[in-house]
Amino acid sequence: MNEATEYREKPNIFELTREELASILGEQGHKPYRAAQVMNWVYKRYAGSFQEMTDLPKSLRDELPNWVEFGKLELLKKQEGRGDRAKRYLWGTGGKPLVESVLLKYKYGLTGCVSTQVGCPVGCAFCASRHLGFERGLSKAEIVEEFVRMCADEKSRIGRLVFMGTGEPFLNYENVLAAIETLCDPNGYDLSRRRITVSTVGIPEAIREFAKESRGVRLALSLHATKDDVRDKLIPLNRTFPVGAVVEALRDYARATGQRVTVEYMLISRINDSKEDALALAALVEGIDCLVNLIPWNPVPGLPWKRPDAEDIKTFKEVLERNRVKVTLRRSLGGNIEAACGQLRRRITERK
Ligand code: SAH
Repeated sequence: MNEATEYREKPNIFELTREELASILGEQGHKPYRAAQVMNWVYKRYAGSFQEMTDLPKSLRDELPNWVEFGKLELLKKQEGRGDRAKRYLWGTGGKPLVESVLLKYKYGLTGCVSTQVGCPVGCAFCASRHLGFERGLSKAEIVEEFVRMCADEKSRIGRLVFMGTGEPFLNYENVLAAIETLCDPNGYDLSRRRITVSTVGIPEAIREFAKESRGVRLALSLHATKDDVRDKLIPLNRTFPVGAVVEALRDYARATGQRVTVEYMLISRINDSKEDALALAALVEGIDCLVNLIPWNPVPGLPWKRPDAEDIKTFKEVLERNRVKVTLRRSLGGNIEAACGQLRRRITERK
């Protein structure tokens, strides 16, 4: 290493484009096509280190770690659900837990669910992440690495990505958008934008900004209640951005992008699951091209609520359908491995 490079912070492989990597390799006297080989190993063959890149000359494999860091996340724990339909990962650095990701195995293929912040500042009353304490937003490289490391573990490409782990994506807007750009780069992972969904608690200004920049990425809104007094209790940010303002922003997003949006509605027994609630929901989303995704609440230890029973969920769904609302019921693949956000990290932290 020469003096000039010695003091420069090493870039992370998960933040570089092929061109940027080619220029780093070029400075060291290597051919640009070596960058394409490295990118192929990272995003198509899911190598875990430069040493694994066996079609690079040995000397280059040895030298690369001097110039480029190969990721930062350590796998601290992995948990598999019954029937192998979901896998949950806890990542950290220096042995300290940071974030979780979940791999969901549906009939139609694999979906990766990533976190965007270490802890979450929003503090929704029903969410396990509430207890974690907010530390910081993840970097672009960390978000990209969460996703690619799940591919590596599964030894398979993952076709869909949802931003539904811990954290509020729009409170880490720039890095989330940059991670999407990196994962969609045709010279890298080449993920289709239409197969990405960003889920937000509802920040109108960010939703409108995203409409201009998302170029095909799908949006989901965590609505969960139609009345401000109920939603205030579930999602404290509703006091700043009430139901009406949030739903208007969603309507604008659907209109501006010409895309169907998703409304997530989590059902908690006796809080938001009555027939009247269903009717109010149908009225609220009228005229928006949307799909309502019903999510039975995943119990979080220490909270007094209950998930509604199957009959009540069915009735809620039928009321929506009778009112011409498109609706699906989310199967809780991760339920038996504690896949409600933040629960794995919480258990590990508490056990210490
Ligand atoms: N901050 C983003 C993404 C977070 S989580 C957002 O609010 O949308 C993704 C979804 O899971 C959100 O709809 C969130 O409200 C929901 N969720 C959180 N905890 C849950 C639980 N215990 N059971 C069911 N859904 C939960």
